[in-house]
Amino acid sequence: MKSYWQSFWTLLFPRICVSCQQALAEGEYLLCTTCHFELPRTQSCLTGQSTIAEKFAGKIPLTTAHAYLKFQKGGKVQHLLHQLKYNNQPEVGEWLGRLFGTEINTAGITADVLLAVPLHESRLRQRGYNQSDCIAKGISEVTGIPLETEVLRKKTATSSQTNKTRIERFQNVENVFEIVKKSALEGKSIALIDDVVTTGSTLEACAQVLLENGCRELHIWTLASTL
Ligand SMILES: [Zn+2]
Repeated sequence: MKSYWQSFWTLLFPRICVSCQQALAEGEYLLCTTCHFELPRTQSCLTGQSTIAEKFAGKIPLTTAHAYLKFQKGGKVQHLLHQLKYNNQPEVGEWLGRLFGTEINTAGITADVLLAVPLHESRLRQRGYNQSDCIAKGISEVTGIPLETEVLRKKTATSSQTNKTRIERFQNVENVFEIVKKSALEGKSIALIDDVVTTGSTLEACAQVLLENGCRELHIWTLASTL
């Protein structure tokens, strides 16, 4: 039973849906039931039809490549990612990661280790957490695949990828990632986790150093994709 103070607190600060701002009912978490139902899932894990796999085809050898949600400008997914990245809500990433993890389990896909695309330390200090780590944490909780956080490092701070051409994006992230713990990936099946894939240049740069350093097979799992 709810305590008097809990009810009082809820009355003063009602929990609201991060997408439509309606009050949440008891048992709902972050999204109301309607918004949850309307999340634009790609279901690529389940159908095997992955647009991001096509994006990387011929560039990096990947065992699987999946995005859980479709990113649309002004849509629910953009709103959720905004909460995660700019509104100090790491729990949004963990929660979506758990949903994604459930789908990965259903599809029977697995890996040895999860690695999140790292942030440069200046950005990490500014945000307080790496949003891709939050997503990976959620996936790890549900799939049981361990998350390693001290393997991959972004050694150079880069300017934003937004408003850059495709070529500029690739040049911007070239040689900015390095391996700090090679033993964690040698001979392993690695799943690389990111928040949203657009051109794929950041993921490609990460994938390259992983494959050059003894990673046996590579998966790319992103929370969302602009495709
Ligand atoms: Zn809602």
